[in-house]
Amino acid sequence: MGKRKKSSRKPAPKRKADPLDTTFTCLFCHHDQSVTVKLDRKEGVAQLVCKVCGQSFQSKVNHLTEPIDIYSEWLDAADYAAKEEERRALRRPVASSSRARPTGPPSIGSEED
Ligand SMILES: [Zn+2]
Repeated sequence: MGKRKKSSRKPAPKRKADPLDTTFTCLFCHHDQSVTVKLDRKEGVAQLVCKVCGQSFQSKVNHLTEPIDIYSEWLDAADYAAKEEERRALRRPVASSSRARPTGPPSIGSEED
């Protein structure tokens, strides 16, 4: 009666004790594992926060939402915000003239009559 060694049998990867808490790399401060995503399925909300730089993000969750979904939503939102800012900056004419820019219509109903 010999014991057969099954070398193919691997122990299942252990999940962390806290499946609802997942950490990610921060998009802003780039610290590893500084971003925590908490899913509150009862309330249907997710809270993402970076413990290093304090960036935070909230989103809705459903029964299929995973922390990584919230994280990628955050990335999208941040990306969108960054692009919006860029767009806004581009839209603004770069008036590098030394003269002050023209100030609206001249003299609107002067106080002195
Ligand atoms: Zn951060």
